[in-house]
Amino acid sequence: MSGVLYLCATPIGNLGDITERCLKTLRDADLIAAEDTRRTLQLLNHFEITKPLTSYHEHNKREKGAYIIELLKSGKNVALVSDAGTVAISDPGEDLVSRCIENDISVSPIPGAVAAVNALIISGLPTRRFAFEGFLSVNKRHRHEHLEAVKNDTHTLIFYEAPHKLKGTLKDLYEALGDRKIAIIRELTKIHEEAIRTTLSNAIKLYDDEPARGEFVLVIEGAARGTANTEDNPLNSLSVSEHVEKYIADGLSQKDAVKRAAADRGVPKREIYNEYHNL
Ligand code: SAM
Repeated sequence: MSGVLYLCATPIGNLGDITERCLKTLRDADLIAAEDTRRTLQLLNHFEITKPLTSYHEHNKREKGAYIIELLKSGKNVALVSDAGTVAISDPGEDLVSRCIENDISVSPIPGAVAAVNALIISGLPTRRFAFEGFLSVNKRHRHEHLEAVKNDTHTLIFYEAPHKLKGTLKDLYEALGDRKIAIIRELTKIHEEAIRTTLSNAIKLYDDEPARGEFVLVIEGAARGTANTEDNPLNSLSVSEHVEKYIADGLSQKDAVKRAAADRGVPKREIYNEYHNL
């Protein structure tokens, strides 16, 4: 029988946030696979856990993934940990999970901290409906397409960003989304934890003078309802099918094409999806 891949969430700053179940899973695993072995070794040393450790990261995920799958198939249990926080959220764990599922290997979560949700709950912005958008691409075209695709979304948006890119990203967000409320959440669970609740235009001014340091989550209010610029968009004169097909022809997946068409028309995605599929 195959072993189990345990996705072990580790603290995003404060070591006190590790769970008992996570410690037990790490102790019981046959192998720990870590995105950054040096960082994980510090964690293991702190909790006096001695276990075989191997690296699994963006640049070796193919070969190391294949090796881990073989181990799991042979009945060994593997604990996967990311740099920090929940595995498979903006890290290569996502890949290994798919491979396990393809190979009929069980995957089990060991829950814990995730920066996005903890930032959201202290942002002061609506929490009932939100979308995690991850990191914006460094590629200008992809970044632009991503922002265009979400600009009419009315739910709260959550982005991750690295400090050295923060200034540029705030400007791109302002250009694409207009002036909206933003909560800039920094260094969650650490000594310098901070939440700045402001607007995108003020945030740009703020970081013009001040260098950005630490880890950041950006929580941004959704578009005001009914503000989608539906009249100016010539694509809105097409039928729904033609509209979606146009985006597919441009290279978008069907899912993204439906999302874009819905944003253009200022209607829910489900409406476009149903009409496109004649449901
Ligand atoms: N797996 C992680 C999680 O569960 O949140 C995210 C990993 S992603 C590679 C790293 C990004 O998460 C950082 O660039 C930052 O945007 C965010 N992040 C991680 N820890 C954070 C913290 N303590 N405070 C604020 N943001 C954090």
